[in-house]
Amino acid sequence: MTKYIFMTGGVVSSLGKGITAASLALLLKRRGLRVAMQKLDPYFNVDPGTMSPYQHGEVFVTADGTETDLDLGHYERFTGIRCTRNSNYTSGRIYKAVIERERQGGYLGATVQVIPHITNEIKEAFKSVAGPDIDIAIIEVGGTAGDIESLPFLEAARQFRHEVGQLNAIFVHLTLLPYLRAAGELKTKPSQQSVGILRNIGIFPDVLVCRTEVSISESEMQKLALFCNVPVELVIEERDVSHSIYEVPLELAKQNFDKKVLNLLHLPCGKLEMEDWRKLVDTVISPKNNCTIAVVGKYTGCPDAYKSIVESIHHAGIANDCRVKVELVEAELLEKAPEMLDNVDCILIPGGFGHRGIPGKLQAIKRAREQKIPLLGICLGLQCMVIEYARNVLKFEDADSVEMNPDTTHPVVHLMHDQRTISAKGGTMRLGSYPCRLSKDSITHQLYGKDDILERHRHRYEFNNLYREDFATSDLKIVGTSPDDLLVEMVELQNHPFFIGCQFHPEFQSQIAEAHPLFKGLIAAALKQKESHA
Ligand code: GLN
Repeated sequence: MTKYIFMTGGVVSSLGKGITAASLALLLKRRGLRVAMQKLDPYFNVDPGTMSPYQHGEVFVTADGTETDLDLGHYERFTGIRCTRNSNYTSGRIYKAVIERERQGGYLGATVQVIPHITNEIKEAFKSVAGPDIDIAIIEVGGTAGDIESLPFLEAARQFRHEVGQLNAIFVHLTLLPYLRAAGELKTKPSQQSVGILRNIGIFPDVLVCRTEVSISESEMQKLALFCNVPVELVIEERDVSHSIYEVPLELAKQNFDKKVLNLLHLPCGKLEMEDWRKLVDTVISPKNNCTIAVVGKYTGCPDAYKSIVESIHHAGIANDCRVKVELVEAELLEKAPEMLDNVDCILIPGGFGHRGIPGKLQAIKRAREQKIPLLGICLGLQCMVIEYARNVLKFEDADSVEMNPDTTHPVVHLMHDQRTISAKGGTMRLGSYPCRLSKDSITHQLYGKDDILERHRHRYEFNNLYREDFATSDLKIVGTSPDDLLVEMVELQNHPFFIGCQFHPEFQSQIAEAHPLFKGLIAAALKQKESHA
C-alpha cells in the first residue's frame, strides 16, 4: 500500500516547497523506495497552459503531453521520476470533473457540495499516483496555510489521513523563520501562527521544515518544537544554500530528514549514498572553465519563465566543468542595443508566442550565423532561424511565420495541419513526446549518438514543407524529421561550429547528472570558440 507525505507551506509563498519536496523524493528514492509525486494548485485554470509566463512562470510539459506546473520540472530533474497527467491537479480540473459528472447525472438526487463531492474528487486525485509499485507519494499542496482557495485540498488531506491512519500519511509543514537584522534575531512567531492555522482545520504537522537565512540555535529549535507541537528532532533546518539548489538534498540528508520521515511511516530505511551528487555540486561550486550565454527571450522580467532552460544550461555547465553565466536578454531591447551580445560566448533563442521581440531574435540569429557564434534555437527559436535564413540568405524578403504575419507571401512557418480546425485554447497544441529521426551526417547525430530520439513538444506552427527543396539545396539542412518524414523537427547549419534548431523542447529532459546532448554540445562549442579566440 502506498503511504503519503503531504507537504504544506506557511507564512509566505515562494519558500521553495517544490525543491524541498523534490529533494526529499531524491533522498527516499536513493534509500531504495519507489516514489511518486503530485502537485496541487489552487487556481481555477484547468491547467497552467493558458496562463502568461508572467503569471505562472514556465509551463512544464510531461512526456504524456500534459501542461503542468514548473515544480514538476524540479521533481523530474532531481529524481529522474517521470511525471504524468496524474502528477498535477488544479482546483479547475477538480471542479470541472465534478460539474461534468453532475451534468451527466452522476449525482442524481444529491445537492453537489464542496464537502463531500469536491473533497472526494481530490481524494481520488491523491490515489491516482498510488499503486502496487509505489511505496511513497509526496503530495505538495500549493498555496500558503490560511489561503481560502487551498482549503478544499487541505480538508481532503485531513480526511485522507483520518481514513488511512497516521502510519500511512504524514504532514510536513515548510515554514519561514524571518531574520530581523536590526534585532539580530530569528523570529518563530509567524511559524507558530501558521501551524495554528493548520491546527484550526484539524491538521497537526508531524515535521516542521524551517527556511532560514541563518542557522537556528538550540533554544530556538526547542521553542519551535514546544509551540508548534512537534518533537525537537522533527524540526529540520533548511538554510539558504549559497551556490546551487542542488545543495539542498545534501543539507537535508545531514539532518536525516528522510530517515526521520521513514521512521514516522514505519518504513525500512536503506543506506543513503550521495557521494556522486556531492561531486556534481562541487563542480558547480568550483569549476575549471567559465563562459557566458545570452538567452534572448521576451519574458526576461520573469526568470521563472525560463526555469528548465536555465537549469539545463547549468547541467551542461557541470558536464563541461564550467560555470555558465546566464544573461537573460530582452529581445525588444536588443533591437536598439546590439552591443548587449558583444561579450557572450553562445546564444539560445527559447520558445515563445506572438510577434513581440521577433526582430531582436532575428538580429541575434543573423549575428550568430555570420560570426559563427554557437546558437541553439528551441521551438519558436527554430522557427526564427528558418525565417532569418529565408529572408537574408534565400532572399525571400517577407518570409515569416503566419503566426506573426498571416499575409506573408513566403509562409516558411505555418499552422500545423491538425491545428487548422482547433479553436479551443486549453491543452490543444501539439503536446508531449514524439519520435524524431536524425540524419547520420550531422553534428546533431554526433551529439545524440543515435538515430532515433524522443523529445517533448508544445507548439501549433511548424516548418512549411513547401520550402523543403529550397532549404535542402542551401546550407541550413534539415537534420531531424518525424519518422514518417512529414514534419521537420531539427535544422543545422553547415560550416558553422554549432547552429542548431529544434522544434521540440530539450530542456524538459535534462538531468543534473545527465545533461541534455544539445545543451552539453552548445556549451562545449562555446568553450571551444572561446579558446580559439583567446
Ligand atoms: N508560437 C510557436 C508555435 O506555437 C512556438 C511555440 C513555442 O515556442 N513553444 O508553434
